[in-house]
Amino acid sequence: MAESFDEECDYLFKAVLIGDSAVGKSNLLSRFGKNEFCIESKPTIGVEFAYRNIRVGDKLVKAQIWDTAGQERFRAITSSYYRGALGALLVYDITRKSTFESLKKWLKEVREFGSREMVVVLVGNKSDLAHHREVNIEDGRSLAQLEDLSFMETSAKENLNVEEAFLQMITRIYQLSCHKSM
Ligand code: GDP
Repeated sequence: MAESFDEECDYLFKAVLIGDSAVGKSNLLSRFGKNEFCIESKPTIGVEFAYRNIRVGDKLVKAQIWDTAGQERFRAITSSYYRGALGALLVYDITRKSTFESLKKWLKEVREFGSREMVVVLVGNKSDLAHHREVNIEDGRSLAQLEDLSFMETSAKENLNVEEAFLQMITRIYQLSCHKSM
């Protein structure tokens, strides 16, 4: 599934960010990017995406991460958003229970439109706002176990676990899709 890209990198992956509005998807993506990537947009289909090169073992992987650019506020995300994606960060906000309750809907969509082997990492964002917490870390962990997902709490604001969440997804995609074809 992973395609060879160019001389500079060995593989190109597409992954998507999903979750309710204002859970912090864009901020997570900007954090992950630091200075190493550029954000581009395709206003026609209402997405933004970013590239970043990551070394996994002795291979250079280029991850192309798509963000909804706020479109989830206005309309359902279409199947084209998911097409070809090998991974997803499914994000909720630990201070808003409703965003956790929406996860069922998001998972249904992932299963409907995403590839069968899609790597999904569940991310409880805004861990810096623990005093406003509405979702226990155990609830996140249990759901992840039940649905067979990886799980992490992050803070885009304080840059906690952001790199780890993306890297976990990318490494797992690499293990699943590249290793078997090498
Ligand atoms: P998106 O709609 O899911 O892309 O969410 P945004 O990235 O636009 O973030 C929505 C709001 O939450 C903004 O006001 C951000 O500043 C804020 N935000 C995002 N991540 C965090 C975080 O980790 N901690 C805190 N305290 N605020 C955050």
